[in-house]
Amino acid sequence: MSQTPETLLDPSRRRWLQGAGVAVTTVSAAPLMALADPEGAVADTLETLLQTHYRRMSRTEIQEVLHRIERRAEREHGVRIRCQDPPPVTGVRFGFAVNLSKCKGLRHCVTACRQENNVSMQGSGNVRVLAMPPGVRTLESGEVEYDAHTPMPPGSWFLPVQCQQCADPACVRACPVEATWREPDGIVVIDYDWCIGCRYCAAACPYWARRFNWQKPHLSAAHITPETSYLGNRPRPVGVMEKCTWCIQRTRQGRMPACQEACPSGARIFGDLLDPGGELRHILEHKTIFRLKEELHTDPQTWYFTDV
Ligand code: SF4
Ligand code: SF4
Repeated sequence: MSQTPETLLDPSRRRWLQGAGVAVTTVSAAPLMALADPEGAVADTLETLLQTHYRRMSRTEIQEVLHRIERRAEREHGVRIRCQDPPPVTGVRFGFAVNLSKCKGLRHCVTACRQENNVSMQGSGNVRVLAMPPGVRTLESGEVEYDAHTPMPPGSWFLPVQCQQCADPACVRACPVEATWREPDGIVVIDYDWCIGCRYCAAACPYWARRFNWQKPHLSAAHITPETSYLGNRPRPVGVMEKCTWCIQRTRQGRMPACQEACPSGARIFGDLLDPGGELRHILEHKTIFRLKEELHTDPQTWYFTDV
């Protein structure tokens, strides 16, 4: 492939690899590689490096990519997963509400998210619950490491925080290679195979909602959730960003996010903002609601309310 001004300006490492002739090397060395690489690990890695952006792939190319992801999971984790790519749901715009009167800080949502989304067993997850003692009113001063079995001072409350799926997301604007974007159903996603790991998006997010895989995620075969999706909970490699996707692999197939299902208090309400008879719309129209850091104009699609 010859380098055009467009490819020279494209900062993607895959463009660079193609321009540097790795594809040619791959083709000419294919017979030798097959002998030295019977499980196809090297070939799969090269194919992933050379793969194009998710939004420019044909359905056939995406199917090949999904099969490659399934092979890699079996090779690396000894687990047979199914990787799908459910499209955005037509005529739906997802939203989320949290009833702060009901949250008891039990962190069942945190555990359920880790399990469902194949989050590394080391490091923090994509959902946080902050303990807010009296007088504490900002995200930055909430306590993450509180003991859920020790009573908090009277007047304390709990604030669950994850990606707010902003309608004008600062993270998307910050990404230099368009590895993250907002889908038509309102979910902000990341193409893990296109992310170059620069972490600009994490710096731009005002909600501390993004998490970088500094190490190869540690996943136990016994605990991997095998139903996965490309933009959702498939096992991620080291060196890429991830975040909550409102369980895109579930919610695009008519199920609830794992955090909502796991919450014993019923504090979490996920739904379709375009459904005039839905619970979410009822809350937005009848409760006193607020959003986090509204003054930053990221237009979060997560609302908070209380029963009072
Ligand atoms: Fe992006 Fe952060 Fe908004 Fe999520 S909460 S969409 S990561 S800016
Ligand atoms: Fe884009 Fe974030 Fe990945 Fe950088 S780390 S490429 S900003 S998604």
